[in-house]
Amino acid sequence: MCPFHLFKTIMEITNKQLKPLAGMTLDDLRGVTASMQMPRFVASQLAQWLYVKRVASFDEMTNISKQNRAALAERYCVGLTPPANAQHSQDGTVKYLFPVGDNKAVEAVLIPDEDRNTLCISSQKGCRMNCYFCMTGRQGWHGNLTANEIINQVLSIPESDSITNVVFMGMGEPLDNIEPVLKVIEIMTSDWGFAWSPKRVTVSTVGVKPALKQLVEQTQVHIALSVHNAIPEERQSLMPIQKLYPVKDVLEMLGKYDFAHQRRLSVEYIMWQWFNDDVPHAERLREILPNTDIRVNLIRYHMIPDAPKLRTSGDERMAMFRDYLNGHGITCTIRRSRGEDIAAACGMLAGKVRKDDDENAKANKATRPQARKQ
Ligand code: SF4
Repeated sequence: MCPFHLFKTIMEITNKQLKPLAGMTLDDLRGVTASMQMPRFVASQLAQWLYVKRVASFDEMTNISKQNRAALAERYCVGLTPPANAQHSQDGTVKYLFPVGDNKAVEAVLIPDEDRNTLCISSQKGCRMNCYFCMTGRQGWHGNLTANEIINQVLSIPESDSITNVVFMGMGEPLDNIEPVLKVIEIMTSDWGFAWSPKRVTVSTVGVKPALKQLVEQTQVHIALSVHNAIPEERQSLMPIQKLYPVKDVLEMLGKYDFAHQRRLSVEYIMWQWFNDDVPHAERLREILPNTDIRVNLIRYHMIPDAPKLRTSGDERMAMFRDYLNGHGITCTIRRSRGEDIAAACGMLAGKVRKDDDENAKANKATRPQARKQ
């Protein structure tokens, strides 16, 4: 973005009267143009400038009349905010920090690989799911992101045009903020938007069952369910959501949908030494999977402060767990860890919000999980 447009964007956004257009669906844009007595096709032109040409100012929208651009600029802004900071990992991962008001910030992580550029994005300021092993969970919940704040993470990084995949695996539980997340998916996968195949988008969830049903039925994106332990009382000691929506019930519900073809359902399983990384746990996991089309991703645990009872599993135990599942016809892989040196790996995202600023963090300090003695 040139300095002039950057300055203009910042001025637009600091003016609280102006509503951002980025993050609106075509229907939303039609509502905007109708309310301003503009022709209906102007909404399609706006969608193209926002999501295909991806401009940062009304001045660049040259096929919209000057009069209409001026009228739009009185009430709206494009609404792109560049990241305030970028941290580069030795392995090529980049962590971007986005201010989201009230002295809060969220993070997005770009993970370049051989043939893909995956962006991991955030959906909330903090999180209220309170998972014991997660830095984001430790800081508590400070509000939902708007569709504008979510799509901005995709549109405003320097590598925006080369992103091949988006995963909702950053800060927050996406299904605890379902409506903006659905809007962003619609923008990514519609012809008038990015026109991406839904296979390029994965939503990760701890299993908020009603919203998950909505997501599965209204979209075709991939689903990644965070299981981490198939034994109910052990999972609940790490993930309070287990009490409300037992993971077995969530998997039973998902088993009724077609994930055997284009669409993928995967199970995420962080491995902790002596807690969930032995063959009996692999057996329990196998028992609750409704079919063998579900893939299992084993994830190396990245230690965080205040969770001293959780330790990283060794390579041998992870391989044993993987081999057990593979031997029973379930595709299981050990996921390569990325960005650990810049605290960008799974479970390490915390934004600028310091946990010691947050009363919730104190409540979360309890030593909940009981590691199994072996
Ligand atoms: S693991 Fe996900 S759902 Fe759980 S606290 Fe962290 S961000 Fe929230």
